[in-house]
Parts: sequence; C-alpha cells; structure tokens
Amino acid sequence: MLDSTIAGSLPKPAWLAAPRTLWAPWRLEGDALEEGKRDAVRLAVRDQEEAGIDIVTDGEQTRRHFVWGFVERLDGVDFSKMVTIGIRADRYKADVPTVTGPLRRRGSIHGDDVRFLRGATRRRIKFTIPGPMTIADTIKDAYYGSRAKLGLALAGLINEEGRELAALGVDVIQLDEPAFNVYMDEVRDWGIEALDQAVQGLTCRTAVHICYGYGIKANTDWKKTLGGEWRQYERTFPLLARSRIGGVSLECANSRVPIALIRLLGDKDVLVGAIDVASDRAETPQEVAAVIREAMKHVKPSQIFPCTNCGMVPLDRELARAKLHALGAGAALVRRELG
Ligand code: ZN
Repeated sequence: MLDSTIAGSLPKPAWLAAPRTLWAPWRLEGDALEEGKRDAVRLAVRDQEEAGIDIVTDGEQTRRHFVWGFVERLDGVDFSKMVTIGIRADRYKADVPTVTGPLRRRGSIHGDDVRFLRGATRRRIKFTIPGPMTIADTIKDAYYGSRAKLGLALAGLINEEGRELAALGVDVIQLDEPAFNVYMDEVRDWGIEALDQAVQGLTCRTAVHICYGYGIKANTDWKKTLGGEWRQYERTFPLLARSRIGGVSLECANSRVPIALIRLLGDKDVLVGAIDVASDRAETPQEVAAVIREAMKHVKPSQIFPCTNCGMVPLDRELARAKLHALGAGAALVRRELG
C-alpha cells in the first residue's frame, strides 16, 4: 500500500549531458556514450533504491528528451528536416523533426533499455513512453494531414512497443501526456481513443501522466495565467475513468488543482504528485505525508501511489536526490500510521 514511484526522469550526471538543461546534447560519443548511459541508469536506480522508492524507473537517462527517445527510432521521421514550431499551444518553441511518410518502428525501441533496467534492480520497474497526443504535438507533420490521424498511427506503434516491453517484465508502462492539459477538446475527440489503443491488450499495469510541465520558466509563467483553481483535470478525469488506462499521474504538490477532483477517477490508480519539481527546496517527509493524507480523504489508500509532480531532469542533481528521499520517507510515514 502507498507504493512510491517517480514521474519518470531524473537529472543526468554532468559527465553525460549538460546539467539543468532540457534537450541537453550528449557529452560523450560512440561506445563511450552507450557505456555512460548505462552507468547513469545504475546510479539513477541506486538513488531511488536508497531513497526507498518502491517502483523505480531508469531516470530516462538514455534519452536526450522524453519525446525523442521514441521518435528517433521510427521510419517516416526525418531528422534532417528540423523546423522550429510552437508546442503546447505555443507555450514554448522547439526544434522538431518532420514526419515525411508512414510511421513504422524500425524494430524494438526500448527493449534493450528495459532488459538492462530489469537486470539492474530487484524492485518493480516502470517504463515511460510519450503519449500519442504529446508526440503529435512535438513533431512537424507533413504526411498525415491531421493530428488525430497522426496520433492514432502513433498509438498503434506505442501499443506494439508496449506489448514487447510488458513481455520483458515491465511492471508498469506509463504514457506521458502533458498535452492532455492543453488541448481539452482534442482529448475528448481523439486523445482518449488513442490512449485506449495504445494500452490495448497490455499485460502489465498502465498509467498516464498528465501534468503542468517541467519546472521551467515558460511553464511557471503559464501556470500564473490559469487562475486560482486549476480545473483542467475536471474535464479529462471522467473520460479517463471510463477508459482502459489503469491509472493517472497528476500534479498535487504546490499546485492549485483541487485535490477532490481525483474522485472523478473512480477506482483507477492515482499517482499523487507530492513533490514539486519547480521549487529549489526539498520537501520534508511531513509535507509529503500531508499531501498523501489529503488524497486519502477522496480515494482509498490502496489506489494511491505517492509520486513526483513531473520529471526532475532539469533539476540540480543533489536537490533531486533530496526530494527522492523526502518522497520515500513521507510515504513510509503514512504507511506506518495506517499500520
Ligand atoms: Zn510531467
């Protein structure tokens, strides 16, 4: 009960990539890069284990950006055709590759990553994959002609990949859909359908992560425009409650989300964000415990997985480690109270 986990990413060591930077270029090449990525995964796993995190990830140490890890290995995506587009309703600009033909997996995308992670820990493991809508929003389409068509094509590929990863022993597959808090009409029109296709037939637990973004300036500025109460989840949670997805990872720490909205998720798993990824101070275990107790007023403890609000890749590494410890200790605190 109250098994802790993280949204997905952790900061990379400075010898692997520039710290506190999104899309940070690698600092190693060739075989040294492959070895460096694996060493970084070992450290990310060790940090989570030491902090008492129950369901661990690879800290997304092997990808430059959470979306690129997937699209880099697809046929139909041309990385020589990079263009600058506004993403997340133009909240920020990104240089993205172009879809120029039918999308196909060139082969397994994260199979080796999962095999390595499975061998690196005895704990349960979670693997994150960007969701169909978020990928569609982070790529330039010059082939499908509609975001829904592109998204549903991506959902099929995510499903192929997910089946493979589940067979390799992944305990939880999480799809990251920050775009679900931005394009509310599209979520209703095709986003949930795409999500359902992506997780159809998977033999492991599943979850979707829907957040208000990394703790970077573009996002903290955006949050200031969202008013006193953030009610985006109010529209998507009832749809998700009726979907195939097993659980939802959301932002609760220091956010203006009314926590009672988690009632709308029915009996789904609730990955309660109890660590703020936009603050430069580590939470105390008591603060984490307070968020978990609030969530327990609305859903059963057996549904709750204490988590981070979002990925921690842009954070200082020592700060991220301190936040991990607070998360593990805060969850343990409430578990003890429950006996
Ligand atoms: Zn996030």
